[in-house]
Amino acid sequence: MVIKATYEQLIDRIAKLAGLSVDEIERRVEAKRAKLSNLISKEGAAQVLAAELGISFDKQKYKINDLLLGMRKVQVIGKVLNIFPIRTYTRKGTESKVANIIIADETGNIRTVFWDTNHIAKIENGEIKVGVCVEIKKADVRGMDNKELHLGSMSEIELSDKTIENVITSRPSPDVKKISEISLNENVRVKAAVVQVFQPRFFNVCPECNMKATFEEGKYLCAKHGNVIPKERMLVNMVVDDGSDNIHAIGFNEIAEKIIGKIEENKDPQNFLIKKKELLGKEFFFSGRARKNMLFSRNEIVVNDLEEVNPENIIKEFEK
Ligand SMILES: [Zn+2]
Repeated sequence: MVIKATYEQLIDRIAKLAGLSVDEIERRVEAKRAKLSNLISKEGAAQVLAAELGISFDKQKYKINDLLLGMRKVQVIGKVLNIFPIRTYTRKGTESKVANIIIADETGNIRTVFWDTNHIAKIENGEIKVGVCVEIKKADVRGMDNKELHLGSMSEIELSDKTIENVITSRPSPDVKKISEISLNENVRVKAAVVQVFQPRFFNVCPECNMKATFEEGKYLCAKHGNVIPKERMLVNMVVDDGSDNIHAIGFNEIAEKIIGKIEENKDPQNFLIKKKELLGKEFFFSGRARKNMLFSRNEIVVNDLEEVNPENIIKEFEK
């Protein structure tokens, strides 16, 4: 077991090594987090700060979610989720290989790139395969839109006997985007406040295929499955605003329930109004796909996940 240093211990250590006061380090950590829209944990921000101060944490293991662009010589343990075919490329007339794998832990996953033939050989000889845990040392975090872990000739990768439960297998969430900068048909993540919630709409779907079931002559009909006993579904439509612009955010079914509660509760308009009052002004991270609503000729996000922005962080932002 790796005993994770508590935040206080970490700060204390950085302060000592940097010859600065604990208060000063804490202030800089908070500034770093604010600059990164609080998308990083305090521990993660402290480690970035340490790296900037030239303090190395070779013994400190990072969680994947805490890796940040620009971090160098990091140490990570992850479970191999996927291995892509090894590619060859020619550089200065010499043919070289590059390998890409995805590793994951309980906080996230990351594309990991091997540039060294000795590391690539471990994939070729089957030592590194899907499902094993690997311990990586001295890798750099690079990338343009998405973070990647890069292993050069100075890096190390070994099999680890650790087991990691509940690894995050979904694609890493995209970085937060301003609503004014959203393009259509892209997966986006925005940090926005709810400014309007419309009365939810209810509809019926076929339990087999989830397609719309139409009500005809006292029966529900699915185009494919005929006469069915439908499942009731709910759609909630909100307007969210992040200061740059606003956009409609649509939630279906489980997501709608996560936003306003169970279908049955929302059949009562009074209950819905209570929910609505609670929601207005609340800030969330919304992830989903941006699309054009042809019917209303407006842009909207079909939400596939949302997470309330930690109120603690909002207070800190206001205090700035
Ligand atoms: Zn059907």
